[in-house]
This record gives sequence, C-alpha cells and structure tokens, in this order.
Amino acid sequence: MIAVVPVRDGRLPVGADATVAEALGRVLVIGEGAMAAAASLRVEVRELRTCEAGPFAPGSWAAGLAEILSGEPMIVLPGSADGRDLAGRLAGELGRPCHAWCTEVLSSRATMTRHEGVVSVTVPVLGPAVTTLVPRAATVRAVVPRQPDPVVVELGAPMRRDATVLGVDDADPAELDLSDAERIVAGGVGLGGPEEFAMLAEVAAALGASLGATRPIADRGIVGHERQIGTTGVTVDPQLYVALGISGAVQHTAGLGSPGRIVAVNTDAACPMMAMADLAVVADAAATLRALDRRLAEAS
Ligand SMILES: Cc1cc2nc3c(=O)[nH]c(=O)nc-3n(C[C@H](O)[C@H](O)[C@H](O)COP(=O)(O)OP(=O)(O)OC[C@H]3O[C@@H](n4cnc5c(N)ncnc54)[C@H](O)[C@@H]3O)c2cc1C
Repeated sequence: MIAVVPVRDGRLPVGADATVAEALGRVLVIGEGAMAAAASLRVEVRELRTCEAGPFAPGSWAAGLAEILSGEPMIVLPGSADGRDLAGRLAGELGRPCHAWCTEVLSSRATMTRHEGVVSVTVPVLGPAVTTLVPRAATVRAVVPRQPDPVVVELGAPMRRDATVLGVDDADPAELDLSDAERIVAGGVGLGGPEEFAMLAEVAAALGASLGATRPIADRGIVGHERQIGTTGVTVDPQLYVALGISGAVQHTAGLGSPGRIVAVNTDAACPMMAMADLAVVADAAATLRALDRRLAEAS
C-alpha cells in the first residue's frame, strides 16, 4: 500500500498524517513545495517519494501518477478536497475501482462510512484499488520522525488538459468545514445563550478562527449541528482550540484530535477541559469573551 498526498504551497492537507500511517509509512508527496510539506509529516515515514509538480493539476497528475504507480496494488489518498479530486481521476486512469471515504483500508477489505457516519459498509478488495481516507477517522500518534532521504520523482509532460486557475480565494473561517479549521473557538453551556454565541462568532471572525460548540448548544438550536464537535458531531484537529465554558466530557474531547494548543476558560478549575489545557483560565466565560471582544475592537 502507498499513500499519495497532494499538497499546495508546501502545506499538507487535512488527513495527511493518518493516510501515511495507514500506508505504514510509504508515501509519495506531490505538488508545489512537496519536499517542504513532506518534512512536516508527524508520523513515521519509511519510504518517501516527492514530486515537485507545481500547482494542483489533477488531470495531468493522475495520468503521470498512473504510469509511476501502476504496480502498486493499493493507493490511498487523504479525503481532503484535492485528495478526493485526484483519487477518482487516478482510479479512472488505472482502470480500478475507487473506494471513497474509508475509515479503514486493508489489502483484503475496505470499510467506508456513509450518511454522516451513521452507516458503515465493508467491501472486499478483489484487486488493485484506489481509496480515500476520512480525515481524522483514526487518531495518529504524533512523533518527530527522522525521515529517509526522499526519492525525487518526475512526471512527464502534461498529458491531460486541466482547468486554468484564475485565482485562489482564502477560505472564510465562518464558512469553512470545521474539520479543516486550524483555529477554533468553541463554547459550551457555561458560556451562555444566543447572545454570547453571536459575540463568539464575531470574536472568532476577528481571530480568523471557526466557531465550534458542544452538543447541548447544538441541541438547543443556538448553533447548527455542523458546528458540534465530538463523537456524534465533527472530528477536528486544530492548531489552536479555545474552549469557553466547556466541561470536557469524553464525548466532546474524543472529537478534538490532538490540538497544538488548548486554552480553556471555566469557573471549575478541576474539570477535564481545564486539565487538558495548555492555558487554563479560571474565570467567567462570558465576561472573558466580552473582554476579548473589547480588546480586539481596540486593536482594530
Ligand atoms: C451518546 C452521546 C453522544 C454525545 N456526543 C457528544 C458530542 O458529539 N459532542 C459533545 O459536545 N457532547 C456530546 N455528548 C454530550 C456530552 O456527554 C456532554 O454532556 C457535553 O459535551 C457537555 O457540554 P458542555 O461542556 O457544554 O456542558 P456541561 O457539561 O454542562 O459543562 C458546562 C461547563 O461550563 C462551566 N461553567 C458554568 N458556568 C460557567 C461560567 N459562568 N463561566 C465559565 N464556565 C462556566 C462548568 O464548570 C462546566 O465545566 C454526547 C452524549 C452522549 C450520551
């Protein structure tokens, strides 16, 4: 099995580490800044190939990769936007089935998830295949690995027409799929009601962060269920997670991944969320939010 990780601007997509782990450390990183992106993998890499292929061009890449990887029985890509786009084309070029949105890939079977995780389908893998892996379906243990020297791979001249990219707009954190967010400010029951969550949305926008919440907040209709983090909500893995008035129940924290930094604000210094935090602030969550809002307004 080999992982193919499409990158942009030297940055790994969501789910890259888990995909490499699933392929037991065999990976081909392709795109603009492939070498730099590969260096930021946080899982063990046993065999590394890099391909500096320039801006994302899924048609040409699929045709070129099909030649290079035709002998690989199982190719797994992250279920990122680019991974999904490339996987189908690669499967088409190779004349193989594409098992999309898997939670587990073995040489003999693939388990896919459907209907927001409600249905799980396991299919036998009867021959060579391409798969995509649900980002963060599994927790990967982050390490700072020593990587093998990369084998540099080159694609031939573009063999397929690709769309011309006229420009790339920055994602609006308010619209961003929560699972892709690098910064999340989230509120729980201890933050308050609709008024506080409206302010939380403004503070999140000012910080370039996405808004998250616990299940009781989503159940009360204060935010949509797509903003709910946890086992029955969205699984996230941000660089920064700010938790305001959240107790840290296991059903919530199980969806957190392994954030780079956690800041928690809570009146209960001993609750699980505070125990997990890098910075634990014992204070009233709504008052802290209002103070933050004022500071951001002064700074702008
Ligand atoms: C099958 C199942 C699935 C579930 N799935 C999910 C899920 O996906 N996601 C999820 O989030 N939950 C889920 N839950 C619910 C979960 O168990 C918890 O009930 C929920 O996460 C608690 O949300 P909370 O932290 O907002 O509220 P609480 O647990 O009520 O915590 C509120 C916190 O606010 C603090 N607080 C109170 N007043 C203040 C104040 N003025 N200032 C600061 N802090 C204050 C309290 O000290 C407390 O720590 C699930 C439960 C079940 C049974």
